[in-house]
Amino acid sequence: MTLDEALKHHFGYTMFRPLQREIVEAAMAGGDVVALLPTGGGKSLCYQLPALLEPGLTLVISPLIALMKDQVDALEANGIPATFLNSSLDPAATARRLAALDRGAYRLLYVAPERTVMAGFLAGLARWNLRRIAVDEAHCVSEWGHDFRPEYRQIASLRSRHPGIPMLALTATATARVRDDIERFLEMRKPRRFVASFNRPNLRYAVFEKTDAVKQLLSWCTARANESGIVYVQSRNSAEELATKLSAAGISSRPYHAGLLPQQRARHQELFIRDEIRVMCATIAFGMGIDKPNVRYVVHYDLPKNVEGYYQETGRAGRDGLASDCALFFSGGDAAKQRHFIRQIENPQEREKAERLLRQMLDFAATMHCRRSHLLHYFGEDGVTGQCGNCDNCLQPPERVDGTQVARKALSCIYRVREHSGFSSGAHHIVDVLLGKRTDKVIAWGHDRLSTFGIGAEQSKGAWMAVLSELMRTGCVEQSYEHRTLFVTEEGLRALKEHRAFAFAMPRFVAKTEKRRSRRLRVLPTVHDDALFERLRELRKRLADDQGVPPYVVFSDATLRELCTQQPVTLQAFRQIGGVGDVKLERYGTAFVEAIRSFDTADASD
Ligand code: ADP
Ligand code: ZN
Repeated sequence: MTLDEALKHHFGYTMFRPLQREIVEAAMAGGDVVALLPTGGGKSLCYQLPALLEPGLTLVISPLIALMKDQVDALEANGIPATFLNSSLDPAATARRLAALDRGAYRLLYVAPERTVMAGFLAGLARWNLRRIAVDEAHCVSEWGHDFRPEYRQIASLRSRHPGIPMLALTATATARVRDDIERFLEMRKPRRFVASFNRPNLRYAVFEKTDAVKQLLSWCTARANESGIVYVQSRNSAEELATKLSAAGISSRPYHAGLLPQQRARHQELFIRDEIRVMCATIAFGMGIDKPNVRYVVHYDLPKNVEGYYQETGRAGRDGLASDCALFFSGGDAAKQRHFIRQIENPQEREKAERLLRQMLDFAATMHCRRSHLLHYFGEDGVTGQCGNCDNCLQPPERVDGTQVARKALSCIYRVREHSGFSSGAHHIVDVLLGKRTDKVIAWGHDRLSTFGIGAEQSKGAWMAVLSELMRTGCVEQSYEHRTLFVTEEGLRALKEHRAFAFAMPRFVAKTEKRRSRRLRVLPTVHDDALFERLRELRKRLADDQGVPPYVVFSDATLRELCTQQPVTLQAFRQIGGVGDVKLERYGTAFVEAIRSFDTADASD
């Protein structure tokens, strides 16, 4: 069997993703390999395919006990004998698995890193015809990565016990420091290195001006009511609050944060993975464990602290390769809030680092150029230059505003208000003064007598809020943390004095009638197919529930989509679909082909 045939037979895929083939070949050639692929790049396949094509056992070291079961379920769904050993198993189950390992019944064994130093396990490993060690999430070995796990350093002790056994380390973290740590701490021997592009072409990046955030989020999610999404927030409170509000609006949602009990967290994650809730409102505590391939959107409701985190979090969308959205809700107020906290960091080096990271994040939010190029450039890649065609700025070039005049008006207004009253006021009040509105506050404080009263009547309230947001982003205006009042900074005074030119993009807003974008229309010609998709999705859920596995283990959304376009009505045609391997063909083929046939006839009789 060729590699391509094996790929189709075992996994149902017709094509390798970038570098998968090269990595599989290098691993099978026998040496150590380091593979850096973005999230969704298909790392698992890089060790699973060799495990099937060669005799012996592949040991997979993976940091998350909670995920092992899903990974093994997914392999079993393709008829691949795999198992895991971890502390969640009772002694009888462990004993059964050990006996089966002694019989050579499995091709892959998943364990957590702690186990690699346990005497009993090591004795077993010596008997099990070990062929390869795969280290998943290998960045956990490095303190420079985002999830350092000291236990990962223990893995190296396997090297002296099994000197002839090659190691394959995989990660989605691409920084040079982390890569060096991986090679050093895993004692890799002249490894071959594969680094894929970190571009995720199916992800669409967009930044929206955050105005009425809750409302914006509701319209965003309502427009995608049948789709899974993650909403990242800064605080536990917001996670709770938004989950409640979304659920009340009919979009099933749960919170996920470090303040929940472990069993609650696990429960919410389970509901999400099994498509029983639509949206997870999460802090960044919701991370590495998410293998769900059909997350259709990631919303950043609050400003992420750095670009690296933003990229990792958005990366959880669209692992199945289907079009997915990454929306950042941005407000200058959020930037001001983070600056406030950064100022309180005592260690000057840490403070400067946090400032630098924030500045980079703000540059991403403000860029008028292709956001994808901006991100890739940040990661030192120049592959995509100019126009990606799939970010807000490429799809709809931003309207550039010469902001010099408006910025001056806003700065002087904020300055005058404070000078006149001896205290500052919030953004809404400043805008009222600019617009020349005689509100109670304006009258009471005498702000209608200021020279800046009504100097901004030519612009809408929304436009002024955007100007203030821009001034906060650039550090010309700050917002006090406690009362959210605005004041002009040294930087802002300098800008006024120097007659500095301001230019920025007109902000974008989440449309009130946010339409699900034409993704479906591009892939699928008719509404008819949407109904079929729902039908197949129900069938998938039923089959998955019967077997106690997440729906994606049966088939991915990508497979369901292809079924809708191709509508195969014979098993032979069904096998041509991506994601249909021979075991799944046998297990599920008839049920799906029947569903497609009966849908056709039902539809014809309408
Ligand atoms: P990673 O660990 O790199 O984030 P996974 O190994 O979880 O990625 O794979 C992500 C998704 O892509 C999974 O649903 C997997 O089944 C699918 N996949 C992997 N390789 C291919 C391929 N060659 N063709 C189509 N889908 C693939
Ligand atoms: Zn672009």
